[in-house]
Amino acid sequence: MRCAIVGSGLAALATYATLRHGGVSSEEIAVFGTHDDPTALWRVRAASIRQKRMRSESDGHLAATSFPGLAFRETARTGVLTPLVASVTNRYHPTVDDFLRHAEEVRARTGWDESFRLERIERIAPVPGGFEVDGGTFAHVLLATGHPGLNKPPEWPDAVHAYEPHEYTRKVAIVGAGMAAATEWLNALAAGSEVVSIRRREPLRRPLNVPRPLFSKRGLVSYHASSDERRAATLRELSLASYPPGPDWDRPLKEAEQEGRFRVLDEAPAEHDVILATGFERGYRHDPLLARLVEEEGLPTRGRWLVLDPDSTVAALSDATRTLSVAGVAGQWAFPAGDTIAGAKYAARAFLRRVCRTR
Ligand SMILES: Cc1cc2nc3c(=O)[nH]c(=O)nc-3n(C[C@H](O)[C@H](O)[C@H](O)COP(=O)(O)OP(=O)(O)OC[C@H]3O[C@@H](n4cnc5c(N)ncnc54)[C@H](O)[C@@H]3O)c2cc1C
Repeated sequence: MRCAIVGSGLAALATYATLRHGGVSSEEIAVFGTHDDPTALWRVRAASIRQKRMRSESDGHLAATSFPGLAFRETARTGVLTPLVASVTNRYHPTVDDFLRHAEEVRARTGWDESFRLERIERIAPVPGGFEVDGGTFAHVLLATGHPGLNKPPEWPDAVHAYEPHEYTRKVAIVGAGMAAATEWLNALAAGSEVVSIRRREPLRRPLNVPRPLFSKRGLVSYHASSDERRAATLRELSLASYPPGPDWDRPLKEAEQEGRFRVLDEAPAEHDVILATGFERGYRHDPLLARLVEEEGLPTRGRWLVLDPDSTVAALSDATRTLSVAGVAGQWAFPAGDTIAGAKYAARAFLRRVCRTR
């Protein structure tokens, strides 16, 4: 076995598909994870906030190559050209159902289940020629452990999190000011609830969490060239709560405000059920595997981020013979939008290049 993927979510499947497409056989890869279905966690979170369409575009799928994207597939299936036309101007957002159906195809076609092992990895140790993971040695390891957990502020011990299954009662207080909070305001209003928004600061209005240039080679070159201090400042700024501008968000809120069904308050009124749209715990320290690796191997960090090379690898533990890569949210130092499908593919493709170098 040459490669290990630790984690079993969307980034893990994107990496697995990329390796298989690059000629690595299923016998050469072990995937260690907590769920055999790589969409298991994501689908619950998306369903909980009633997400119907992807935030990403046509190429936001888990197959190895960008083409054919989900717009092309929808057009081929339905004969309707609208998806393809919309995708040219970045206005095509596939349905969640189409995305998940396609992910199931990728899982089946790539042989994911042959390589999958149901196991939570507690420790990764560098050894000559690679890394020890669960008693075996692997030359190349990619960590894709996702978010360490939901962020649940202790002042609301009985509250449900927006990413957990829930219904909307007659009076709800929604904590948070980002995309999930904004989605929940509209969901609860549409369900007929009276909604109170609890927020520490006014939300920013940005079309994307991470600006489009930071998805491009050119934008990344200047991001990678910036000092550690500047880079950490960029990541901090990008993590501020935001949701897109536009009448689709503003109109229902304004109407509800006029009807007295939407208010912004500092605290949740006693009779309201609280929904926490407060995202995830942040930083490598909350992830036991990453925290242990940093502590035992003295990996460089800056604030809550692991310091990585531009190709998503841990420089001190990667050389011509072995690779330690980090994908997903923990890989933001290399790719600010690490916690997206585009981010998963960025790390996966760089990982394949390293694996191929030692063939
Ligand atoms: C509601 C929602 C909607 C989103 N919509 C979009 C969208 O439309 N487009 C887009 O591009 N992005 C979207 N994202 C962002 C992003 O795609 C997801 O966060 C994605 O799930 C990240 O994948 P991941 O593999 O890094 O993490 P996860 O999917 O969370 O998977 C990590 C997996 O690794 C396992 N694991 C953790 N530690 C270990 C260990 N030590 N050993 C073994 N296994 C371990 C976990 O249990 C989990 O199964 C959305 C996110 C959310 C929450």
